[in-house]
This record gives sequence, C-alpha cells and structure tokens, in this order.
Amino acid sequence: MRLANKVAIVTGGASGMGAATARRFAREGAKVMIGDVLEDDGRKVAADIASAGGTAAFAKLDVTDEENWKAVVEQTVRQFGKLDILVNNAGISGSGYQDLMSTQAWETVMGVNATGVFLGMKYAVPEMRKAGGGSIVNFSSISGVVGQKGIHMAYNASKGAVRTMSKSGAVQWGRDKIRVNSIHPGVMPPMRTSGLTADPEFRAKMLAPVPLGRAGEVDEMANAVLFLASDEASYITGIELYVDGGFLAV
Ligand code: NAD
Repeated sequence: MRLANKVAIVTGGASGMGAATARRFAREGAKVMIGDVLEDDGRKVAADIASAGGTAAFAKLDVTDEENWKAVVEQTVRQFGKLDILVNNAGISGSGYQDLMSTQAWETVMGVNATGVFLGMKYAVPEMRKAGGGSIVNFSSISGVVGQKGIHMAYNASKGAVRTMSKSGAVQWGRDKIRVNSIHPGVMPPMRTSGLTADPEFRAKMLAPVPLGRAGEVDEMANAVLFLASDEASYITGIELYVDGGFLAV
C-alpha cells in the first residue's frame, strides 16, 4: 500500500476529483479526513470508504474560514494521531458568471481558490513539522498557466496564485521535509459550479486541440495526486504537474 500509516486531509472531498482522491488514498492505506461545505455528500463518501474497508471521516470545512481550518486540523490530529498529507482541492469555477468584470465574483473566486489554499497550508504546516515532514498537493489548473475566453479572470488569477504559492511553500519548508507541488487538471468533467465550460459546444471547442483528443477522468487525476502525495515523489517539490492530455503542449 502506497500510503500506509499516512494521514491525509482532502478538501472538496465530497465531489469530483476530491472524492476520487479520497477514495484512492483510502485504498492505498491512508486515513482520510474529507473536508467540504457539502455535508451530506461528504459524509456519504466517508461512509462508502468505510464500507469498502478503508478509514475516513468527514468534517464540515469552509476553506475560506480560518477558525474552521483550525478546528478541522485539530480534529484530524485528535482522531488520526498526526497529519502527513494535505490536498487543497476545493474550488469553484470562473465560468458561471455573465459579468466577466464582476468585482464580487473576483472576491468570491479568489477567496475560495487562492485564500482557501493559503489557509490550508497555514494550519497544516505546523502539524507536518511535528510529524517530521509532509506532502502538500495544491489544485491549480491549466487556467493557472494560460488565459481563456469566457472565464472570469479571477479563476486564472486564483489558479496562478496557487501555482506560485506552492513554489513559495516548497522553498520555505523544504528543510522541514515538507514538499509542496501544484497539480494542473486540463478539461475534466464539469465542476458543480461550471457554467460555460459545462456547455457541450464550448467543451467541444476546448477539446479540439487537445493532443489526446478527450477530456480527463477523475481517477486519472487521483492517480497523479497519489504519486505526488506519496513517498515515491520524495525528491519532487516545487513542480507543477500538468494532467491535461497535452493541452499546454500545443
Ligand atoms: P467539483 O465542483 O465537483 O468539486 C469541488 C468541491 O469543492 C465540491 O465538493 C465543493 O463543495 C467544494 N467546495 C467548494 N467551495 C468550497 C469551500 N468554500 N470550502 C470547502 N469546500 C468547497 O469540482 P472538481 O472538478 O472536482 O474540481 C476540483 C478542483 O480541480 C478545483 O480546485 C477546480 O478548480 C480544479 N479544476 C477543475 C477542472 C475541471 O474541468 N473540472 C479543471 C481544472 C482544475
């Protein structure tokens, strides 16, 4: 088992790639704390994991709330003994806005996608130091590297912030044996909050130039997160891993 004796927090673990990652981690032996605003869905993922023989719990977490973060990290350590892995996956889309220059949208998207990741690292790192090291995998996107039409630029800005704050963490915490990497999904199944990028016509246009010629699957993302989170990636920190079917190679 590739994550035996590891304890992980997966944010946004109630849905999509976060749920796939939580399930995969548990199958590899990790004890998983699922943090999400969606209580019923999050509890269901934790219950599924438990009935498949894994170890998981759910904690209500709004990643923009500092007190929430403190409580969830404390609960994880109390329940599972330590913290080794943080997957900052929770996020909201920038493609659901009519007004692409809405200031409110800017603040909301930056709050969840960028500040949420910062707060996660802020509260996880002290516990990882106590555990003797750790691995943080932060969800950026192809949108953290390039711009796109039809998507509020807050999404690109927030994912760009994730990309560089991951490198900052890698540089600052390397001597604590804490690795920090960003992961960049390409075109995946739509997010719950997707607008335009859930539209079949728009998706077809996004997919047309992709070398592998198709969207990715959530389990393909979970495989990549697993690698970065595990000790197999012990000399990898500060990188950005594109899991995008070649989107950014064109
Ligand atoms: P999803 O909508 O299925 O899942 C996102 C999860 O985050 C949901 O469970 C949601 O409840 C949770 N969440 C949202 N706001 C939260 C908050 N404030 N606090 C806690 N949890 C919150 O989306 P997904 O496709 O699984 O996306 C996962 C990550 O991948 C996101 O960061 C997203 O930006 C990124 N991403 C997605 C795609 C794509 O095409 N789906 C592409 C590139 C990057």
